[in-house]
Amino acid sequence: QKKHKVTIVGSGNWGTTMSKLVAENVKAHPQLFEETVNMWVYEEEVTIPKDSRHYDPASDKPQKLSELFNKVHENVKYLPNITIPSNVVANPDVVDSCKNSTILIFVLPHQFIPRVCDQLAGKIVPYARAICCTKGIDVSEKGVRLMSEAIGMRLNIYCGALSGANIASEIAQEKYSETTVAYDPPPMDSRAPTPSGSPTSSQVDLISPSKPVPSARSARLKPLPNEYPPLSHENVRKLFHRPYFHVRIVDDVAGVSLGGALKNIIALGAGFVDGLGWGDNAKAAVMRVGILEMVKFGKYFFPDSSKSTTFTEESCGVADVVTSCMGGRNFRCAKMAIEQGKTVFEIEQEVLNGQKLQGTSTAYEVNSFLTQEGKEHEFPLFTAVYNILEKKAKPEDIPQLIEPKD
Ligand code: NAD
Ligand code: 13P
Ligand code: CA
Repeated sequence: QKKHKVTIVGSGNWGTTMSKLVAENVKAHPQLFEETVNMWVYEEEVTIPKDSRHYDPASDKPQKLSELFNKVHENVKYLPNITIPSNVVANPDVVDSCKNSTILIFVLPHQFIPRVCDQLAGKIVPYARAICCTKGIDVSEKGVRLMSEAIGMRLNIYCGALSGANIASEIAQEKYSETTVAYDPPPMDSRAPTPSGSPTSSQVDLISPSKPVPSARSARLKPLPNEYPPLSHENVRKLFHRPYFHVRIVDDVAGVSLGGALKNIIALGAGFVDGLGWGDNAKAAVMRVGILEMVKFGKYFFPDSSKSTTFTEESCGVADVVTSCMGGRNFRCAKMAIEQGKTVFEIEQEVLNGQKLQGTSTAYEVNSFLTQEGKEHEFPLFTAVYNILEKKAKPEDIPQLIEPKD
């Protein structure tokens, strides 16, 4: 039997953390996965910081991040002080890093996904399957698309999603957290039907229980050959679940993806009121309104595919809003911006050392989509955050702006 080969596409703060936990899991399940995990590194020159355990005055000059990673097994720029298992191999060539991989884990800032997928199109294993760990949405004049859909359409493969209350640095330190994986694979991934026509037990694992996959989509998909272990919920869980990272699997790719994308706008709003020194009650009010808008967004624009229980019951919904509004980068940068009288964009440049905020661009994308739909006024918090970023409103106005109008 063949084994699945895994590539992590992206190597930032979360991407590198993802490589660590996936590398631990492939070693724990050698019957399912090949031991080497590739990680695509967007190449850049880095200088080891003086306070790094890898600092050496003799090599105090810029080096290629991918080469340095493969030497010291640490991402000194995006995840310092965490040792990554040596079965993770960094590769600066995106096509080469994905060659022969049957599982592609996307963990790039969402703005880079379309360009990277276009580079990969036609150059990956045609029956590969993907999981999107990126938090964001893809808006064009045609409307709104999930990042998992953007990946799936560009590469002609099935793409699920992983999202949760997951601040990467805590998970990298193996502090307990939960996550939600949405994997609703095409029925064609199942094995040949039994003579009676009734599904085999592996098919029961694979066939999505609640929602048929549109035939147009599955028609284009290439089936996973029989020599590979099936990518059942059970096997997908084995790729991500760790003693410190508890995975729950659902079918609702839209709900999981929207939770992760929209909470970043809410976290900016929470940072704005916290930056004013308004305290926890104000922050809770922003979170409450934001959660309602998140659920409404799913109901309006993904009515057949998102479930409101995903937002309330799974890590990817309310729990992610909570953690992101306490310690996330979007929250922290928005708070600093107000405290220091700067823009969020300036703070991102000054303090994040190359890490990227997703809430700012998502606020713009959601606003452009809501404007197209004529529904801005039905999402007053999302609209307020956009207007504050655009300097068309002040954070002090948030209480009036989010007050329901009738
Ligand atoms: P990051 O913000 O730490 O780092 C930015 C990354 O973008 C770096 O790897 C950099 O090399 C890369 N990059 C810069 N320019 C690029 C380009 N032109 N093309 C391609 N890549 C480029 O990244 P991250 O934290 O791993 O975030 C990736 C995704 O994961 C985001 O959608 C984020 O919301 C999500 N996420 C992050 C966390 C977290 O705690 N960090 C947790 C959950 C989800
Ligand atoms: P930030 O990108 O705001 O740090 O959020 C991280 C995250 O997604 C926590 O779940
Ligand atoms: Ca289903």
